Amino acid sequence: MNTMDDTVESELLEVPILLERPWAVYAACKSEQSLLFFPQNKNEERKALAICGSCPVVEDCLAHAFETKERFGVWGGMTERQRRKCVSR
Ligand code: SF4
Repeated sequence: MNTMDDTVESELLEVPILLERPWAVYAACKSEQSLLFFPQNKNEERKALAICGSCPVVEDCLAHAFETKERFGVWGGMTERQRRKCVSR
């Protein structure tokens, strides 16, 4: 059960994220558990990548990941390993 404090805290956390990533309101993953995008195995990784495959903001998400040098997780249809390979080329 949420308390008033939980709601306020949650709203305070969401505002900066939306300002930084306004495209996230269209994200295919917005109703998914965020832990899925920090996969612990290949099966979870495949599920996350499949969701990215139908995401209308995949390019914005990937650009954000490169711009902010996101080190962990699936962003923009790429795993952290795939992004590291792009950067090292
Ligand atoms: S590309 Fe993937 S991680 Fe990025 S917003 Fe879309 S579904 Fe989420």
